[in-house]
Amino acid sequence: MNDKKYDILIVGGGVVGTAIARELSKYNLSIALFEKETDVASGTSKANSGIIHAGYNASKDTLKGRLNIESNPMFDQIVSDLKVPFKRIGSLVVGHSQEDKEKLILEKEKSLAQADIDLRVIEKQELREKEPDLAEDAIVALYAPNAGIISPYKLTIAQAENAANNGVEIHLQTEVKQVLHENNYITGIKTNKGEFYGSVVINAAGLYADKIAATVGENYEIVPRKGEYNLFDKKYGSLVNHVIFPMPSEKSKGILITPTVDGNLLLGPNSYVVDDKDDLEVTEQGLNEIWSGGKKLYPSLPGGGVISSFAGLRATIPADPYNDDFKIEALDKPVGFIDVAGIQSPGLSSAPGIAKMVERLIKDISTEIKAPISLKEKPTYNPELDKLPRLDDYKDHREDWHQVYQEDNNYGEIVCRCEHVTKGEIIAELKKSLAPPTLDALKRRTRASGGRCQGGFCGPRIAEIIAEEFNISPLEVTKNGPGSEILMERVKDIKADRDITYRRQKDEN
Ligand SMILES: Cc1cc2nc3c(=O)[nH]c(=O)nc-3n(C[C@H](O)[C@H](O)[C@H](O)COP(=O)(O)OP(=O)(O)OC[C@H]3O[C@@H](n4cnc5c(N)ncnc54)[C@H](O)[C@@H]3O)c2cc1C
Repeated sequence: MNDKKYDILIVGGGVVGTAIARELSKYNLSIALFEKETDVASGTSKANSGIIHAGYNASKDTLKGRLNIESNPMFDQIVSDLKVPFKRIGSLVVGHSQEDKEKLILEKEKSLAQADIDLRVIEKQELREKEPDLAEDAIVALYAPNAGIISPYKLTIAQAENAANNGVEIHLQTEVKQVLHENNYITGIKTNKGEFYGSVVINAAGLYADKIAATVGENYEIVPRKGEYNLFDKKYGSLVNHVIFPMPSEKSKGILITPTVDGNLLLGPNSYVVDDKDDLEVTEQGLNEIWSGGKKLYPSLPGGGVISSFAGLRATIPADPYNDDFKIEALDKPVGFIDVAGIQSPGLSSAPGIAKMVERLIKDISTEIKAPISLKEKPTYNPELDKLPRLDDYKDHREDWHQVYQEDNNYGEIVCRCEHVTKGEIIAELKKSLAPPTLDALKRRTRASGGRCQGGFCGPRIAEIIAEEFNISPLEVTKNGPGSEILMERVKDIKADRDITYRRQKDEN
């Protein structure tokens, strides 16, 4: 039971919930964020294309169009404050015929009519200069220099850390079961760890936003739409220079090829509705689909270069599952409930704008809620995170790393050979209050075990470091929380103890 009263309770630690938490942390408010999993960025925000779209895909009349356009320029400041890797590499929508060219010109004109987006239709020669190895029949492209690539989970984690540094309480492994309300006013939430009181609840629960909303009487359904991917070794990250899309379909922006901000190559996603909100299975059929999609754009895709496959689920509200919009609104009843639901693509690109929109909604209802609040900025607010030393950042001037490991020897021990991550980097993350002691949490923060060997070599050493730092047994270290322990028993000494116990029991009988 938590007797403390909060001003604002946020449900969900994805890119959206954490962006809202960070935005609101500049005010003198008491805020708590609740995430049911062991870590933030455990839902859709950890498995997507990682693209900050230029903003021409959706109409400005939709929330997703308007918020994408508004958010795109905001990323330069955000990533500079939070030290999150981001590159504006530009995107190309590639056409193969005169008909495609006409469609792209139309797309450009339609987009320019609604917003001032930097867009150009480029012809074969320029396209070849930009992407020499594209399919021979690629003759035209819509070029958007402002599109970028980002690490979606690093952004989410950094937003959460910055919000926490500015006073937001982050409650991990805390599942919100019910939103509490009395006489049409929000009063708090009920979780698996007790009740928390507050007069504003922000529902940013991603795929489960419908379940949360149902507890205040709202009736809509979130339908998951799956997308599968192949991730290629870093060796292939420079095969393409831009985010490369095919001509879009009714269903989606299509199967794209892009370098990731960490230097890998990413291929995917496809797009189809599934029944289960936890269905992250990668299917043979799906992988075949993305493979043939990729081959059309880039015929010499390296078959043997795939190091990992994964899937993500878009949270759609299916009036029309392929053409629906975000649902961001403050309810009239109960007063104090704000829905931020149906945040499918481009939700990552729109997260800063969504946070600003929620801030405006809170200003609007601040005097009407059960315990009115005043949005006074706090002088101590710091939008920045410190930059931690990363060996990978020194790849072109390794000699300067000497200074770092002379100050702390742990920075001299390379633990993950594929991604060049040192023990010092792992320990620095584990010392932060928000880093859960799991292999996946460390992978998301440092990239240790995210390379070609996928943890085969470094996994046991990382588990050992976690055990040392947290003073626990390596048997207690998990992949991503309780139930995912990676070791079963100590082969040598436990076997001996067991035998003794067995003998003792026998003797007692
Ligand atoms: C295949 C695919 C590709 C995409 N590509 C892009 C792209 O390139 N660019 C782009 O802009 N967007 C893209 N998107 C969309 C983008 O990923 C999402 O819009 C964004 O991640 C949604 O963030 P969120 O915070 O709303 O949801 P989530 O990240 O799912 O966060 C919701 C959180 O709430 C938690 N939660 C749920 N229920 C509860 C509860 N009861 N109590 C506590 N916590 C709870 C979940 O565990 C989860 O962590 C893509 C999506 C997919 C699936």
